Amino acid sequence: MTASTVCDVIVVGGGPAGSTAATLLRRAGWDVVLCDAARFPRHKICGEYVPPAALRIFERLGALGAIESLGPLRHVGMAVVSPGGTTVLGRYGGGVRGLSLRRLDLDRALLDHARQSGVTVLEGARVTGLARCGGGVFEVAVGGDARAAGPAPAAVLRARAVVGADGRNSLVARRLGLRRTEPRHRKWAVMGHFGGVDVPAGHGEMIVTPYGYCGINPLPQGLANVCVVVDHQAIRGAAVGGDRLASFFHDRISAHPLTRQRMARAEPVGRLWATGPMACRTARGFADGAVLVGDAAGFYDPFTGEGIAMALRGAEMAAEVLSGALRRGDLASRALEPYEEARRAAFHARLRLDRSLQALLKHPRLTDWVARRLRRDPGLADLLARVTGDTVDAARLLRPGFMARLLLA
Ligand SMILES: Cc1cc2nc3c(=O)[nH]c(=O)nc-3n(C[C@H](O)[C@H](O)[C@H](O)COP(=O)(O)OP(=O)(O)OC[C@H]3O[C@@H](n4cnc5c(N)ncnc54)[C@H](O)[C@@H]3O)c2cc1C
Repeated sequence: MTASTVCDVIVVGGGPAGSTAATLLRRAGWDVVLCDAARFPRHKICGEYVPPAALRIFERLGALGAIESLGPLRHVGMAVVSPGGTTVLGRYGGGVRGLSLRRLDLDRALLDHARQSGVTVLEGARVTGLARCGGGVFEVAVGGDARAAGPAPAAVLRARAVVGADGRNSLVARRLGLRRTEPRHRKWAVMGHFGGVDVPAGHGEMIVTPYGYCGINPLPQGLANVCVVVDHQAIRGAAVGGDRLASFFHDRISAHPLTRQRMARAEPVGRLWATGPMACRTARGFADGAVLVGDAAGFYDPFTGEGIAMALRGAEMAAEVLSGALRRGDLASRALEPYEEARRAAFHARLRLDRSLQALLKHPRLTDWVARRLRRDPGLADLLARVTGDTVDAARLLRPGFMARLLLA
């Protein structure tokens, strides 16, 4: 395509949300260009746990076979260890499994799938500007990625619509004036890959600690993803990386008997990565001619490991609404509002649950009490796992029946 061509949609960002939205829009017959600042495979800070709900979407997308061929591990559920040491394993049941695999591989497979579906994929193409020009057309300024070898030449691309799928620090959300701060939940994560970790078999583990929590997720080829989440005041200067980040991470691992035991023989594979503050939100997920998907539309906390499934589901909803609006030739924001309504209906209860869980984790004794109750009633723990795995509606946990059963357990 030349710089003067006006395509139907430019998708900014080629993570799970962007690749999925681009594939579905292309499949609906639109001319789609996807720009990602990185060249794939690229690293992404993540616990690398893929909940069961995401698998159903991979299947609908026709990408499940390609992802399964990467040899992911299959998880039966997720364990949480309370501050006092009570372990609660929630199982999805009924043969349902989650996957774990490196984002390096997963995201490349999804991007390749978009390319094979006919999306024009530009890698090493960082979007640096976004503006509306005449006739409601967007001008998207694309520069090379300074970190990538052989930077792409700077260009201005034009499109009738834009999908902002550029993650938590979304330029698209900022340029559309939709970005808001999330001052009350300011968590940072430090993660790395390790060999020789004493990992639980068949599931990941979230260990709640006095400093925050630590997720340990077994990965293929004997690796494990170890991710420490702390409050922003705790990390301060260590976030710059190098030796300070390594000693910060190891101090946190040593501070808890279970993480110390799990990591006693661990060997790092690659460097440590830090990111934060992680929570972000937007006023809404749409504007004239544009929608935000995945983390660009908002992110809260990785404790329940739902980000990938929400990114995929949100991309499905965005593609459907945007495609209808393109077909009708009406891209005014009111035509895209049904996307926001669909997101709210799908995610609202889930986000309330996440916020409630984070509030609970601030009270170690109460967390221990809840963990003991869940251990006494494994059916409740399984229900919680199914909700966090997105196979059961989160609203079920917010009903009085669940609370009553918890109290009586
Ligand atoms: C510490 C941590 C642990 C997590 N653990 C899990 C987990 O175990 N399971 C789970 O389901 N979720 C987890 N999540 C959440 C999950 O990682 C995200 O929700 C998911 O990656 C969102 O996908 P996305 O496509 O919206 O964004 P991303 O995956 O962030 O992709 C955004 C893409 O946009 C590109 N980009 C950014 N800016 C520009 C630009 N200006 N121009 C062009 N391209 C740009 C980036 O290069 C990137 O490829 C975790 C998150 C964190 C922070």
